[in-house]
Amino acid sequence: MIFTRKMNIKLVLMGAIFIFLLIVTNGILMEYALVKGAEFTYKSYYKERMSKLKTDMDLLQHVIEGLSQNNIIVKMLEEKRDFNELFRNEKNGIIFDGEIIEEDLKSLIFINKIYIINKKGQCLFSKDEIKTNYDLMSMPWMKEEYLNMKDENIVTEVYKEINTDEYKVSVVRFIYSDSNGELLGAAIFDIYIEDLIKFYNLDFYTGDLETYIKINDYEYICSKGIVKEIERNNDNYVVSLNDVLNNGTEIILEFDKESIVYVKEMKEVNGIRIIIFSVAGIIYVLLLNKLIKVTFKPIMKSLDKLKVLLDNLEKNNFDFEGNDEFKQLDFISDSLSKCFDKKIQSLIYYDELTKLPNRKMLVKICNDLIDCNIQFALIFIDLNKFKYINDVFGHSAGDKLLVNFSSRMEKCLGNKGIITRYSGDEFIIVYNRYKDDEELKEFYKNVILKEFEEPIILNNDQKIKVKFSGGVAVYPRDGSNFNELIDKSDFTMYSSKKSSEENRLLFFNNDIYNKIIKIENIKNELKTAVYNNEFILYYQPIVDVEGKIKKVEVLIRWNNNKLGFMSPNDFISYAEESGDIINIGYWIIEEVCKNFDKFYNNGNVIQVSINVSPIQLMEINFVEKVIEIAKKYNVDLCNICFEITESVVLDENITVYDNIYLLYKVGAKIALDDFGTGYASFSYLKKFKLDILKIDKIFIDNCSEVDYKIVNNVKNIAHLLNMKTVVEGVETEKQFNILKELGCDYFQGYYFAKPMKLNELVEYIKSK
Ligand code: C2E
Ligand code: CA
Ligand code: CA
Repeated sequence: MIFTRKMNIKLVLMGAIFIFLLIVTNGILMEYALVKGAEFTYKSYYKERMSKLKTDMDLLQHVIEGLSQNNIIVKMLEEKRDFNELFRNEKNGIIFDGEIIEEDLKSLIFINKIYIINKKGQCLFSKDEIKTNYDLMSMPWMKEEYLNMKDENIVTEVYKEINTDEYKVSVVRFIYSDSNGELLGAAIFDIYIEDLIKFYNLDFYTGDLETYIKINDYEYICSKGIVKEIERNNDNYVVSLNDVLNNGTEIILEFDKESIVYVKEMKEVNGIRIIIFSVAGIIYVLLLNKLIKVTFKPIMKSLDKLKVLLDNLEKNNFDFEGNDEFKQLDFISDSLSKCFDKKIQSLIYYDELTKLPNRKMLVKICNDLIDCNIQFALIFIDLNKFKYINDVFGHSAGDKLLVNFSSRMEKCLGNKGIITRYSGDEFIIVYNRYKDDEELKEFYKNVILKEFEEPIILNNDQKIKVKFSGGVAVYPRDGSNFNELIDKSDFTMYSSKKSSEENRLLFFNNDIYNKIIKIENIKNELKTAVYNNEFILYYQPIVDVEGKIKKVEVLIRWNNNKLGFMSPNDFISYAEESGDIINIGYWIIEEVCKNFDKFYNNGNVIQVSINVSPIQLMEINFVEKVIEIAKKYNVDLCNICFEITESVVLDENITVYDNIYLLYKVGAKIALDDFGTGYASFSYLKKFKLDILKIDKIFIDNCSEVDYKIVNNVKNIAHLLNMKTVVEGVETEKQFNILKELGCDYFQGYYFAKPMKLNELVEYIKSK
């Protein structure tokens, strides 16, 4: 499993984007943090500065107040003494006080001058410096109203010292005489604006700060000198402080944002950060790539398998290399779904071997035609002896035959119809150009049969002529839905197959079909008839020449829910075909034995005749079972006569022969039924030890002289062979009289009694 170049490029690209995003996000967060930090820095600085300046000013005011009330100073000023005239100790005291004050104010570098001035303008300065000519009244800051401000400190506006050109603010306190209130002098502190600015600017060490102090309405003083306007950089933080000096002077602080945010150290940190992130990012990407490969391993393996699967299915060499794995997967899943769809469609609707539409497709085609009410013929075709070809020549030969048959049929049909494979060797043609039976017959004969005159050649050069049988059912004439049409064409094909004519095409015949269906129903119902107790036994008396009842014949009837009441001629032959007659036969014998006590006439036993079918006699243990039943009901088999048919004696079946012999052995009587209707010769009568010969009704029906002569001769031969005769179908007195005259032994017929139910028979016997 190796990733394609495209996939690798994609992964690297993804990684690069990942690193880039990582750095950018981090940068943004960092920037945000720095700006917030800077804001915090400058805000805390100016707040701290503001409160510090206020405290300093308070301290100044306090100090100046103290100085103005100093006793020595006031006394000296009252006595109008010069400083020089002061006694040494007084001088020292003042100097000492001044030094203490200086010490107190040492931290305020912008204050370096403290004066005590007398009226003469003499100035007492700390550190024994004496200034003269300090004329209070002519000072630039002096205002008339100040003179009225006794016991109050005055903070002057910003003014320019004439001698030095320096800008200053002075804190002044006038000193008055305690005794007469006369102005004696003043105590003055000078605040040097430039020093104050320098102090502010330098004191802020986390960035660059420019302090502006307003000196008049249109000028500011800053570290660069006097400026008319403050050149504000929009990004910078600007704070305006009002009245911190207690004189209304505006102080503006402009913090250089750039310098606070990106201090040198931070710039270094930023650089290192980018390097670390890039290196870490590359490592992450490599790890990610590895991780993806490990994670994708099973998917890639499946991808390889899917490629093989697709190649096998489509039998095509796909070029996957141009695409990355995701595109390949997309392509494969798409192709596979289409491919499977096609395959599934063909599996569902087409036959693998012959490639013909299959049964499902047939249903669809027919239903479509039926929906559109289009007339068509369904031709059911079954190959003859296909099993034989498979068994003898092998399955591949069978397959070849099916394929060959299919393609030839397709060729014949052209656009006249569609051939579909129904199952094994059964094909169904949907002939949608059907006009009438004649046209189809012509087409079948002239096109299809002609085509199949040519034999097919199997692998071993064996030539085989394809033969088949066909049955046609036409929509809508023969059926209204697919199943009906299939059943009927199948049925017709089956009839065609049974006929000896080869390659025959039969058309559906409703009468035959209904008959067959009825037979099928009968056969079907017969299976459960004994179990459901649907049979009823009727008894027909057989009389002697005096008309006395000597025998009865048991005749079966069937009462079925669906089929109604049926006489034996309607179902016995089918029961024989299906073999159900065997069980029915045992049931009859058992019924007779069970009711044997009813068969007595004035204490004399009446012989009971039971019809047995040749099929019953083919059962090896038939007699064994009969004996078993007779024993069960304690019936002597001598009183039972079994009527067999001519076919039994004609068909020289050894089992049948044995059974008849065994019946004879156990004392049962045997009668040959319907004598004269078949081909039984007298030699057979000799062979089988028979007791009774039943002369068929046909000889007496016509009442002709010849017939009676035949009856007479038959009777004579029967007597010769030690057999008694029963004449069947005696319907008139005349017939009875003639037959009596002829010397026949027993008589049976409507003239005496019709077959009747057991209770009726009992009554009948009693009445006679
Ligand atoms: P079969 O054995 O020859 O029975 C005589 C048939 O002739 C009976 O018809 C009976 O009703 C009818 N018959 C009797 N006297 C007259 C008459 O004077 N005039 C006319 N026209 N008919 C008469 P059935 O009962 O319909 O039986 C028909 C056949 O069915 C029987 O012919 C027999 O071959 C067969 N069969 C009847 N019962 C059984 C049975 O239990 N087992 C077997 N295997 N076959 C039976
Ligand atoms: Ca009979
Ligand atoms: Ca008969």
